[in-house]
Amino acid sequence: MIFGKHINRYYLKYGYMLLLGLAALVTVDYLQLEIPELYQMVINGMNQGFVTVDGVQAAFDMEFLLDRICMPMVWIILAMVFGRFLWRVCFFGAAIKVETDLRNRMFDNCRHLSCEYYQVNKVGNLMSLFTNDLDTVQECYGWGIMMFCDALLLGVLAVIKMWNMDPLLTVLSLIPMLFLMGAATVVGQYMTKKWDYRQECFSKLSDFAQESFSGIAVIKAFVKEAKELMAFKALNVENEKANIDHTQASVLLRILVMMFVESVICVILGYGGYLVYCRKFNAGQLVEFIGYFNAVVWPIMAVSELIDMTSRGKASLKRIGELLDAKQTVVDRPGVKELKNVRGDIEFRNLNFRYPDGDYNALEDVSFTIKAGESVGLVGKTGSGKTTLVDLILRTYNVPDGTVFIDGQDVNDVSIRSVRGACAYVPQDNFLFSDTIENNIAFGIPGYDHSAIAYAAKLADVDGNIKEFQRGYETILGERGVTVSGGQKQRISIARALLKDAPILILDDSVSAVDTKTEETILNNLHQAREGKTTILIAHRISTIAKMDRILFIEDGKLAAMGTHEELYASNASYRKMVDLQRLEEEGGADHA
Ligand code: ADP
Repeated sequence: MIFGKHINRYYLKYGYMLLLGLAALVTVDYLQLEIPELYQMVINGMNQGFVTVDGVQAAFDMEFLLDRICMPMVWIILAMVFGRFLWRVCFFGAAIKVETDLRNRMFDNCRHLSCEYYQVNKVGNLMSLFTNDLDTVQECYGWGIMMFCDALLLGVLAVIKMWNMDPLLTVLSLIPMLFLMGAATVVGQYMTKKWDYRQECFSKLSDFAQESFSGIAVIKAFVKEAKELMAFKALNVENEKANIDHTQASVLLRILVMMFVESVICVILGYGGYLVYCRKFNAGQLVEFIGYFNAVVWPIMAVSELIDMTSRGKASLKRIGELLDAKQTVVDRPGVKELKNVRGDIEFRNLNFRYPDGDYNALEDVSFTIKAGESVGLVGKTGSGKTTLVDLILRTYNVPDGTVFIDGQDVNDVSIRSVRGACAYVPQDNFLFSDTIENNIAFGIPGYDHSAIAYAAKLADVDGNIKEFQRGYETILGERGVTVSGGQKQRISIARALLKDAPILILDDSVSAVDTKTEETILNNLHQAREGKTTILIAHRISTIAKMDRILFIEDGKLAAMGTHEELYASNASYRKMVDLQRLEEEGGADHA
């Protein structure tokens, strides 16, 4: 049983199921409390030979036993079985629906969160929200509501029955419960903290495991398996300790409840026995009273379960709430237009850009224009700002007004969706999905026929490789495309971008893992296929971009020079030095080869 802005809406949405479950629960609880009265009749009937029902005496014979005890008992049991089935279906069904809805909302929110969020929140942590925390909320919603309603109903009904039999004995039985409530509240708060910490430890463990699996090749290459194992063990021990701490608190709460229940039984037996001795109660009535108190024991036990569960549910919902409340930092302004019929002109005007968590400007006073249809190479040392520059065209981060334009329109005045729709992008980290090669290539534009996909693959010079696979385009790639080589992965990603045939194509260091001959083939194909469309190619090797219409040379976040390869070589000393150095390296490599 948990409340909070992210969960309250479901009490309304699935209210009909909860009400039906509640009706079944009321019926079951009411019928359950009829049973102690039957015990009373049996015991008194056996002791006295007769039974008083509604002030009328009746002989306790076989007929009475069958008609007034056994048959009602059978009907009560049947009705209780059906009722219990119904409330389980209703309460747990509602909880599963809540879990599904929450999961959808979480995933939907994740889709809209910007890159900044994913830089701070690791995948392992996110995965534990989708598994562990969501499970806890589901359990808390289903079991929690059921326990809360059952404990309240059964408790109140049983106490009324007890009160009708003897008010003083009822008060004496319930006094220890007040102490229990106080103690349980304190322990409950302590348990929330412990659960929060436990989930944090679990997230750290998932993060670590996820990263280790992803980086298994690096770990093996550096023979760091033992180091990884030690680090994992340390995190696992921390997780174990957090689990033990939480379980200890949970067990303490249960022991407390048991202690109070036992003490109440002592009170009932003591004072109830005295009432029987004074002939204010008969034996059957004492058994009936104990029967009602037994019915109260479950609600009391449920209180501890409920506190435990609610504390866990609250902590998990808080973590899920942080994801649902995470701000979408890169969003459309109200009333933005769609970027239509894009030609592919790009302009940067005095752009200064600093990453949200950066200490310095990654790009400084950058101004240039790329005309539609131009092919432009971006070069510069690692960390000079090339990826940042193309990320800003794609609106991955927010840019100041009046600094980045596509077709003369400020990117802040048009929808992000339409900007990205006008671009095809091959990121540095070529990510392939665990799906067929065909679906990976058609990812941007599903529904393409096979010939178009094969044509894109041909342009990316990967068609031959794909055909060599036993299942060709139907080959399913392993997680992150581990079954293909780095170069093949790059080329499949290029094919994916080429199939989109967007007005602007951006390739970020996309041919670094292919040999120079393949690179040449791809560049020639690109040249033909992208005729009249804007292409931006980031590269380290000068040979990759030497034939582009123009080259932007970036140095320490500034645009140091712009022009053709020959122009830059003649006019810019840094560029010349870089080209000469690369030439020397290549010649050195060739000599050694
Ligand atoms: P390049 O693509 O030329 O290698 P980048 O554009 O990736 O360089 O990086 C430019 C600068 O911005 C570097 O100093 C880098 O450390 C920094 N940087 C890159 N990404 C981020 C980020 N997400 N947050 C903060 N700083 C970043």
